[in-house]
Amino acid sequence: MSKKILVVGAGIGGLATALRLAKKGYEVEMLEKNEQAGGRLNQIKKDGFTFDTGPSFFSMSYEFEEFARDCQIKLPFEYFELDPLYSVNFSDNPKTFHLYKDIDKLAEQFADIEPDFKEKFIQYQAKAGALFHDTVDLVIKQNFDSLFHYITTLMRVNPVHIPVLLRSFYDHVKKYFSSKEAIQIISLVAFFLGRTPFDTMAIYSLLSYTEFKHDGYFNVKGGMYQIVEGIVNELKKEKVTIHYNTEIKSFEEEKGKLKALVDQHGKRWTSDVFLINSDAAWFRGNVFRRKQYSDEKLDKMNWTMGYLTFYVGIKRKLPMVDHHNYYLGSNYEAYSNNIMQNPDTLQKPYYYVNVLSKNNPDCAPEGCESLFFVCPVPNLYFKQNWDDKEEIVNSIIADFSERIGVEVQKEIVTQTIYTPIEWRDRFNLHRGSGLGLSHNMNQIGHMRPRNFDEKYKNVFYVGASTVPGAGIPMAIISSKLAFERINKHFGQ
Ligand SMILES: Cc1cc2nc3c(=O)[nH]c(=O)nc-3n(C[C@H](O)[C@H](O)[C@H](O)COP(=O)(O)OP(=O)(O)OC[C@H]3O[C@@H](n4cnc5c(N)ncnc54)[C@H](O)[C@@H]3O)c2cc1C
Repeated sequence: MSKKILVVGAGIGGLATALRLAKKGYEVEMLEKNEQAGGRLNQIKKDGFTFDTGPSFFSMSYEFEEFARDCQIKLPFEYFELDPLYSVNFSDNPKTFHLYKDIDKLAEQFADIEPDFKEKFIQYQAKAGALFHDTVDLVIKQNFDSLFHYITTLMRVNPVHIPVLLRSFYDHVKKYFSSKEAIQIISLVAFFLGRTPFDTMAIYSLLSYTEFKHDGYFNVKGGMYQIVEGIVNELKKEKVTIHYNTEIKSFEEEKGKLKALVDQHGKRWTSDVFLINSDAAWFRGNVFRRKQYSDEKLDKMNWTMGYLTFYVGIKRKLPMVDHHNYYLGSNYEAYSNNIMQNPDTLQKPYYYVNVLSKNNPDCAPEGCESLFFVCPVPNLYFKQNWDDKEEIVNSIIADFSERIGVEVQKEIVTQTIYTPIEWRDRFNLHRGSGLGLSHNMNQIGHMRPRNFDEKYKNVFYVGASTVPGAGIPMAIISSKLAFERINKHFGQ
């Protein structure tokens, strides 16, 4: 008889692991708190518009290709490369910087402000590439069984990289470039990890290599949610059932093993093995009631920032705006040093605008545009009250209107706002932290909440707050690591 695995959470981490397991012959059943799958990689359909709610592009496309090979399927969605990767605007500079992968086209963008940009960028990328290749297989795509295993593995990483553990991303970029624009634009990617370039270790400059050189950024035909729909379809073929509107609240144990999980209606869900895709730290505290993960202890951990996201359908086209756009102010360092904790920063917010309908015309009615704004904000530990959300949203729309020369407010047909409160309540994210636990030294590798449970041998974890970390490619790697653990558990 095949072994049964119950997966809690149908985020990308849970879905990908479920498919790997089902393809291996396990009997898989899934529970999801919300009314549809995807978790943070989700979708809103409203008033004729379609919006991606969280991720708007992904890197390391080869992780999806490997996933498809592992599952022996054709990847169930189509992705296409972004070029330029994205555009960056500063409030004190009329120029829009287009970040091309082609180094000569990229260098042209900086011709008048950063002498020898091309040579500097080649040197910067050589270091970022070495960091990537010296760590990706050894450390990132690796399960660690003990602290000893983790430390001995780290000792195998080329010691030439030690200085980047001690330096911030920002200081590292400054060693290569001198103009404020080049430094800010190249260090911007640290924000993608949910922190700032000033408190992110320089080792993550390897992201510059993944974005510009090793692979690039990718969008999905029809919108990012096609990833979820594609995997859910594959799961259907494998007869995997997903029970929606089912939230796990408590548990039962027997003889040192987890016996059942209990949902909000008191229904018991039994299984041989349980895979938790709910946040690995939050679930240990809020469902398993572990003291080390009490709310107080969770607050002492290091979390990523919150996001104010809003989804706006407008009744006109915006030909002057690219698909992916960053709008920065003129106080990068002060802004970065305040954004994690100080709500006052929101008086002059930095933000990102995604025009989903630009490459996916089906996502908006004819002649209309589907816009998705992301604004980094303090998480709920630092700003609890969001009664001012409309005010902040209006100020961002006003700023955007001024920068592009279109009165966007007048064109709005539909609008939905998620503050960190919605992010917390929809997906059980501690303090509404958008990307989960941050990636500082004592929260990565074996120091991150593990993907196997401390107490129950039949419980495993997958997703952003366990190994290896946040982002879609990491969730796909996480699914492989969790799959390997479960397979090992069953002696396969
Ligand atoms: C605004 C925003 C923008 C982002 N942009 C990008 C991007 O451009 N590119 C990129 O690569 N990444 C991006 N990310 C990060 C990316 O979305 C996440 O890292 C990834 O989607 C996390 O997937 P996951 O499976 O770990 O968790 P989740 O997506 O959170 O899935 C967990 C699932 O578990 C469910 N759940 C939780 N608790 C329970 C419970 N008790 N019972 C039942 N179900 C439960 C939740 O409802 C959820 O569906 C972004 C994130 C945000 C918030």
